[in-house]
Amino acid sequence: EPRAGADPSATETSRVPMAQRKDVIVVKDLAKSFGDNHVLHDVDVTVKEGEVVAIIGPSGAGKSTFLRCLNKLEDVTSGHVVVNGHDLTEKGTDLDTVRQDIGMVFQHFNLFPHMTVLQNVMLAPVQLGRASKEDARRQAEALLERVGLAEKADARPAELSGGQKQRVAIARALAMKPDIMLFDEATSALDPEMVGEVLEVIRDLARQGMTMVLVTHEMGFAREVADRVLFMADGVIKEEGTPAEIFERPRDPRTQDFLSKVL
Ligand code: ADP
Ligand code: MG
Repeated sequence: EPRAGADPSATETSRVPMAQRKDVIVVKDLAKSFGDNHVLHDVDVTVKEGEVVAIIGPSGAGKSTFLRCLNKLEDVTSGHVVVNGHDLTEKGTDLDTVRQDIGMVFQHFNLFPHMTVLQNVMLAPVQLGRASKEDARRQAEALLERVGLAEKADARPAELSGGQKQRVAIARALAMKPDIMLFDEATSALDPEMVGEVLEVIRDLARQGMTMVLVTHEMGFAREVADRVLFMADGVIKEEGTPAEIFERPRDPRTQDFLSKVL
């Protein structure tokens, strides 16, 4: 069936008021510890269809751990993570199905160096039996077009700039037709002149109605693209609000302190 972000129905979603949209991610009382290190406490977050949520906060706050709990790259210690109605913390939940709904892009792109750009983008749908080779190829070509890299289809990752590699990584994640995209500091390993081209691709996904959770240190971008901003520190969401609320009128002293250092 059609998926938000990948088809024209997404623009219809964007006309529905946020409060009336369905919940695609519901996190309840999430806690995560690594041994004695209690990294996340009492995290409650709901993300609506087509919503863009930016997570900001100091290093070590638990932002990456939180994102990794959303697609079960980490097991949660307690609480619930429900994605598209599937509770990831319940035994018997088909994780493969849930993970196919969620694309993730990391700081480091992890492209396969011995494969061409096109092969990198085609790989997962073919390997997981989601598309024939021909369909996967056609789709990969369309995705490379969408991220502005059609002419690099036959290049190897080593021949690309950092910004181009990250755009391939985004195309690769989109090849699984996710309806949710998670970005963890997707631009922080890039040279400054390459940040813009990657943000442009993310901005374009937002416009098309993709549901996204992005951890970012690009405050200007968070402000521009996010429907809601979460400020996380010490494993807790200290404050959340619209970009105007968080960036112009932060209430929590930790948010104020953090923003005074990064803005
Ligand atoms: P952020 O992304 O906000 O910088 P992280 O989620 O990466 O924060 O890290 C939060 C805390 O969790 C840190 O104290 C970090 O050392 C710890 N942590 C993260 N991943 C692991 C892991 N796999 N094993 C042990 N500790 C971890
Ligand atoms: Mg991190």
